[in-house]
Amino acid sequence: MSKRVLIIGAGGVSNVVVHKCAMNSEVFGHITLASRTLSKCEAIAKDVKACCGVDVDTRSVNADSVEELVALIDDVQPDIVINVALPYQDLAIMDACIATKVDYLDTANYEHPSLAKFEYKLQWERDAAFKEAGIMGLLGSGFDPGATNIFCAYAQKHYFDEIHTIDILDCNAGDHGYPFATNFNPEINLREVSANGRYWENGEWIETKPMEIMQVWDYPEVGPKDSYLLYHEELESLVKHIKGLQRIRFFMTFGASYLKHMEVLENVGMLGIEPVEHQGQRIIPIEFLKTLLPDPASLGPRTKGKTNIGIVAEGIKDGAKKKIYIYQVKDHEECYAEVKSQGVSYTTGVPAMIGAKLMLEGIWKKEGVWNMEQLDPDPFMEELNKQGLPWQIIELEA
Ligand code: NDP
Repeated sequence: MSKRVLIIGAGGVSNVVVHKCAMNSEVFGHITLASRTLSKCEAIAKDVKACCGVDVDTRSVNADSVEELVALIDDVQPDIVINVALPYQDLAIMDACIATKVDYLDTANYEHPSLAKFEYKLQWERDAAFKEAGIMGLLGSGFDPGATNIFCAYAQKHYFDEIHTIDILDCNAGDHGYPFATNFNPEINLREVSANGRYWENGEWIETKPMEIMQVWDYPEVGPKDSYLLYHEELESLVKHIKGLQRIRFFMTFGASYLKHMEVLENVGMLGIEPVEHQGQRIIPIEFLKTLLPDPASLGPRTKGKTNIGIVAEGIKDGAKKKIYIYQVKDHEECYAEVKSQGVSYTTGVPAMIGAKLMLEGIWKKEGVWNMEQLDPDPFMEELNKQGLPWQIIELEA
């Protein structure tokens, strides 16, 4: 079975997706990579040819234009579109998939460029149109969201009658040697971490100030790290799909230097998303900051250390209390040696490839728009072990 894939976006995550699709060429028989900047597609295609001996077709596209996307899809005739551009393009790419009746997958939920707020509403609203077109849309097939949703579904399926609490714990202990840089698109990353925190308890969303709640968590193979409560998009779908849930929170580690830079940038207005007038030109501060910061794709060769992302779930099995920790540890240098990317792009790109592989193989074949935890977690968990992201489960004292 050999299928055609169209990958949109040519950044850090895309680099991993293209490499991993090429490494699974029995499924991804023909790969087209399209993005705004053709030279970035060509650079990835060149690396993939050198590493895997696979040819990648390259195109340029403005993924904000449904019309351009439809023309591209009609020309390429893919069996699936993998969207690893930015969250701003999600709706346009989904609409192009509806128009051309082609399956869709992404790794991050839709955001409007001038509104720092992300939610599934507009993507879920396309469920009926996806069903009518007879196609599947898989939302959030990265690591978090993505593998973390699958960890929750796996815990629910195999370990619990009811899960009462979930903490998602995201640690990046990588050191790139810069005083300040972000591991994925700076604009998306900084919008996420500078927003108010939010978690869900007993049917209600509780809002916190940014970085207001902190706990120290001892991450296996990494050690204890300050972990801050953030709102993260998978919480919105998990509260709908996990049985008996009473509380769910998301924590991410940040070092002191990162937080100090964030605070200063925020205080001087550099994280602003509204245009400001500068010497006769209109500039969006956070976009200008992105221009100044190191390109996340350039961090690969410099980054040392590990990521550890997982979930702690607590609940009831056969009348007894139970608590488990499912996590995945990845070494940044190992990622770079394999696909010339740092660990954050790697841990996002591999699950994107796996989601697409399961869809193309017909193992995850549905119509409509789906979140990861609604699907059978077992084949995904098996693939994580095979494709470079082996995971562990440990029992904790309940
Ligand atoms: P990058 O900024 O490195 O790459 C984004 C790519 O999209 C760039 O090549 C960019 O083009 C392209 N692009 C942007 N706008 C357009 C457009 N209008 N038309 C065509 N192409 C466009 O981002 P990352 O690779 O770091 O992230 C990719 C996605 O992965 C993001 O949505 C991010 O939120 C998500 N992500 C998900 C994670 C998860 O675990 N679920 C974790 C990390 C990231 P150009 O090169 O010309 O700028």
